[in-house]
Amino acid sequence: MKEQGSISIHTENIFPIIKKFLYSDHEIFLRELVSNAVDATQKLKRLSALGEVKTEVNSNPRVEVAFNKKKKTITITDSGIGMTAEEIKKYINQIAFSGAEEFVEKYKGKGDEEQIIGMFGMGFYSAFMVADNVEINSLSYQEGAKAAKWTCDGSTSYEIAPSKKKYIGTEIILHLAKDSEEFLEESRIQGILDKYCKFLPVEIKFGTKEEQVEDGKDKDGKPKYKSVKKDNIINDPNPLWTKAPSELKDEDYISFYKSLYPFSEDPLFWIHLNVDYPFNLTGVLYFPKVKKDFEIQKNKIQLFSKQVFITDEVKDIVPEFLQLLHGVLDSPDIPLNVSRSYLQADGNVKKINSHITKKVADKLASLFKNDREAYEAKWDDIGIFVKYGMLSEDKFYEKAKSFGLLKNLEGKFFTLDEYKDKVKDTQTDKDKNLVYLYTNDASKQHAFIQSATKKGYDVLEFDSMIDSHFINFLEQKLEGTQLKRVDADTVDKLIAKDEEIASVLSKEEEEKVKAIFEKAINNTNMQVALESQSVDEMPVVITMSEFMRRMKDMAETGGGGFNMMGGMPDSYNVSVNANHSVIGKVLAAKKEADQIKIAKQAFDLGMLSQNMLSGKDLTDFIERSVELMAGKAKK
Ligand code: ADP
Repeated sequence: MKEQGSISIHTENIFPIIKKFLYSDHEIFLRELVSNAVDATQKLKRLSALGEVKTEVNSNPRVEVAFNKKKKTITITDSGIGMTAEEIKKYINQIAFSGAEEFVEKYKGKGDEEQIIGMFGMGFYSAFMVADNVEINSLSYQEGAKAAKWTCDGSTSYEIAPSKKKYIGTEIILHLAKDSEEFLEESRIQGILDKYCKFLPVEIKFGTKEEQVEDGKDKDGKPKYKSVKKDNIINDPNPLWTKAPSELKDEDYISFYKSLYPFSEDPLFWIHLNVDYPFNLTGVLYFPKVKKDFEIQKNKIQLFSKQVFITDEVKDIVPEFLQLLHGVLDSPDIPLNVSRSYLQADGNVKKINSHITKKVADKLASLFKNDREAYEAKWDDIGIFVKYGMLSEDKFYEKAKSFGLLKNLEGKFFTLDEYKDKVKDTQTDKDKNLVYLYTNDASKQHAFIQSATKKGYDVLEFDSMIDSHFINFLEQKLEGTQLKRVDADTVDKLIAKDEEIASVLSKEEEEKVKAIFEKAINNTNMQVALESQSVDEMPVVITMSEFMRRMKDMAETGGGGFNMMGGMPDSYNVSVNANHSVIGKVLAAKKEADQIKIAKQAFDLGMLSQNMLSGKDLTDFIERSVELMAGKAKK
């Protein structure tokens, strides 16, 4: 008996609306229908295990996806629990359709549809994004159940009739709409299945593939091969993260990583997550090799819900600094059908967030504790995560104090406490400030590093993009500690001590030298000052103060509020060493022209040691040097 009816929804024809909404993501129809089929299969398995199924059940049930180019159909077949006519009316006509209606009502005109859609499972209804006619042909597992066939053309009316289906399960046939015929390509379907269904827990068959198998030996005793057709199973029903860590070896983790990211280097290490209380979360997070900052890519973590791929945008689920990790997360407790702002406020999401942070911190702490040498060897790669984490999450910082490292120029590593112990005796200034020296370019700042090491100071290496933030952060966190780049001042003033070196010059002589230098340099952005340094320091040292430089750096990276600095000329300090014999020579010269010449030469040497001399200044310097070497000044 054929029965006709009308689906009780209020919006007359919501199909066109939803179709438009979901435009960018039509392909998810396949994910939705295949996961329904998988659910139905698992339900039957469970019922059968409970002894509630009287009829014979397929022991290796599969879901099959097939397409017919001529008939323009895609068919999804399962051997799951099936539905009776009554159930179809209830589950499809009422539940599936009301879900769709609710969706439209909720998001109509909100503007953020695009965002929601990627996260939102549309269920059975999504079939109508690509099909203008859908058939359900189903036989329920229940004793004495009669097979039923439902058809619907995308309007609110449907037809339901008895069917001849012999096997338990459901077959969904989509008659594709004209504008969706792109989905009738094998490669397209394979691609969608690969993206969303790769790890579904029930085998999914899509056509067949040719495989070479051994077929006896030829007359020389060499193996012969023949090609056979085999079912093309597109998924791995038992992916690594669903297994117990105790069953797995390093090779398993590495080969799973390679299957996710085919052309990547081996990961450094990984964390296998397995939580079932107070929320459900499994997954494996990998620490990738990242030698350079610019190689870092986000969106490498894939999010699943019960092995169904949802998205690789995990922005709101994983703390930002951990989005640099790779791997998979699987949780049925992450609400997928809600808007972003709701997701951020969701209690489970917050808990998952802090759980992941804690697990990562624990893992790093144990690596550090158990094998410090191996940990240090990986620091160039993991340092960026750790620093980023310390900067952005207070809880992580508290833990990372024990395994966050500072690296000095000798390539030695220290925890924050160890470093403080190392330098506190030598690098405390007269005001009791601890001063940490660092370089971001050991070759450019070589002269300054040499002066600092001569004094017995230690120099840290901070050369990655994140370090300029990390330096500011350390100063905030470490009380009474300043960080200065080695070239921020002359070595005596970098860490000012009580014992002052007396100047050999009188006040008047110092004033005179200053005036000569100002005249020789003739640049108001160069602030000349006389300093009494030890005789083995350079006669002239050119520096930019730590403060000035940081302001400039911030302006360059567009730091808020500092943009006006960008237009300001660079301002340098020119420290003239009053005790140097060259300065004595400046004063001793009889003619003013000679005084200026020596002063200019000393200044240029200071510029040269910092690679700041170029163009005409450099040519003049070279000519002057030759002239001075030749002994007699001609002019
Ligand atoms: P959801 O899966 O989120 O419940 P759907 O719209 O996808 O929503 O499906 C509605 C209901 O229809 C399902 O809960 C299930 O009871 C039933 N159903 C859908 N597909 C199948 C299937 N292949 N086999 C058995 N029942 C199904």
